[in-house]
Amino acid sequence: MPFNCLTDNDKELINKYIGKFALSYSENPTTRRCEDMSYILRLWDYAKKDHLFKLLGNKLIAEKPISFTKSPNELQDDIYEAFVENDIFKRFANTYNEFINQNFVMYSNIWHNMNQFISAETLAQNSYRYCWKSFTFVLPGVDKPIKVNPGVKPMKILAKVAEAGGFTELFEKFRIAHSMILNQKCLDGTLCLSIHPLDYMTMSDNDMDWDSCMNWREPGEYRQGTVEMMNSDVVLVAYLKSSRPFVFSPMYAWNNKRWRTLVVVNDTFTVNVKGYPYHSDDLNDEVQKWIVELAKENLGIDYEYEYVYDGESLFDKEAIERLTKFYFDTGRMYNDFGHLKDNMGHVLLSADDDPTQWPVQFYYSGPSECMWCGCEDECVDEGSVLCEDCANVVKCDYCESKTDPEYLHEIANGDMVCSDCLENNCSKDPVTEEYHYNNIMDEIFLSPYERGLIPYHMWQKLSVRFLRSHPREVYDKFFKDGFDSIHYTAVKYSWGNDVYSYVSVHDLTEEGAEIFGLNNYEVEDYKLDGTVEEVYDHYDVEDYYLQHEKRDRRLKYAD
Ligand SMILES: [Zn+2]
Ligand SMILES: [Zn+2]
Repeated sequence: MPFNCLTDNDKELINKYIGKFALSYSENPTTRRCEDMSYILRLWDYAKKDHLFKLLGNKLIAEKPISFTKSPNELQDDIYEAFVENDIFKRFANTYNEFINQNFVMYSNIWHNMNQFISAETLAQNSYRYCWKSFTFVLPGVDKPIKVNPGVKPMKILAKVAEAGGFTELFEKFRIAHSMILNQKCLDGTLCLSIHPLDYMTMSDNDMDWDSCMNWREPGEYRQGTVEMMNSDVVLVAYLKSSRPFVFSPMYAWNNKRWRTLVVVNDTFTVNVKGYPYHSDDLNDEVQKWIVELAKENLGIDYEYEYVYDGESLFDKEAIERLTKFYFDTGRMYNDFGHLKDNMGHVLLSADDDPTQWPVQFYYSGPSECMWCGCEDECVDEGSVLCEDCANVVKCDYCESKTDPEYLHEIANGDMVCSDCLENNCSKDPVTEEYHYNNIMDEIFLSPYERGLIPYHMWQKLSVRFLRSHPREVYDKFFKDGFDSIHYTAVKYSWGNDVYSYVSVHDLTEEGAEIFGLNNYEVEDYKLDGTVEEVYDHYDVEDYYLQHEKRDRRLKYAD
């Protein structure tokens, strides 16, 4: 059983990792943490015990030394450094740039394209990927236009430019200096295939300057994904281990990942998901070659057929013929299939020569689990590795969205509502100065005209809501004729009529102006000329009876 392979030290590291990083900032556990690793890791143990544990030869981590190439970023840094420090690089860049500036219109598209042949990115990749389609250019004294295809080796083009510009000798030195840098890109390291719980938890945590949405320390938005991968019976973690450990707490350290990918592997196929922090064909190949060997040796499975997967379909080896639709799916894990750079496909190796019979969808997540108490209840969200009880998140009584307790507000009836709902679904009653739900309040708009029928868009500007249950007398304070200052109008829409209450700005008392947020000057500015009759003609208002009917209903509320 995988669990029996965990040493006491392993268990302590896992326990420490959970204790230190499982909480998000807003989480505030009320439950005591379960420190029984056999319980917390039971789903993991069950998921890995058959296929994957045996694949690794009844081990949690298989390791082997490999030579690998530096990451594109590391190589690019080396090239930048050469442009600053290496005499040949400096001289070549000056000569080349001078030639380009003289022969191409500065800042034109073609000039930009030409400049990119000696960019650190192009030289590090040793492949020109600045343009996604071919282009041609003409050199002085050369009849035939030169065609550049995306992906061409930069030295091939630079050689032609150097010949036309008469600096072939300098180019030759530059070519050698460049290839020396590329030759030093090989390093020695350790490749690991792992089903160790800490390798899932730290799949994006390291001291190598990269992370992803799965990281626990930040915390990332898809942390629950690490738990689903840990509890999946088909997912292992492949990574390149740095010689320097990842110290996550004084006295506590784990394997530091320079590069990693998840691998989905079952009886039928094996496929790498996506490399972080960069895509590497070499490392992907190494991982797959090794899994093929192990599967033959430990499971008697031969993944001998090669397919290409683009995120939606399986193709034959040359990626020419589409064989079948095929989707990978996850629960709360971010599904990284189909997100490779440059639209490169994933190589899928299979023991089956006829994938057209496979089910169209393949789910590779395991169960979600709370890392605090070990329950399988729904976690707070994708970013959390805790269940709702443990995280002590609270819900808004109105919209039921989960939120941090500090963003909840108590309203008059004792309900706790989120900030959004307080702003959009509640209002402060001017009489009691407490917040109530809008649906038990009446909204009174401020009309700029003398009492009359006013265009809706004019009174939409300012409004105040009063609790519907107030006695009429409360309005005496705010409006000159008290409750009688409030008028009603119906506006006809395609879907029916809406009735609006309004009060004229001419009818406001000083307190009335205040509740609309207006001072004396602003009250004057708000006023517009117009009489009842004038504005009445212009607006599509339902018959007068409806207004009275509504008004009667309202009077009943008020009584
Ligand atoms: Zn819990
Ligand atoms: Zn809410």
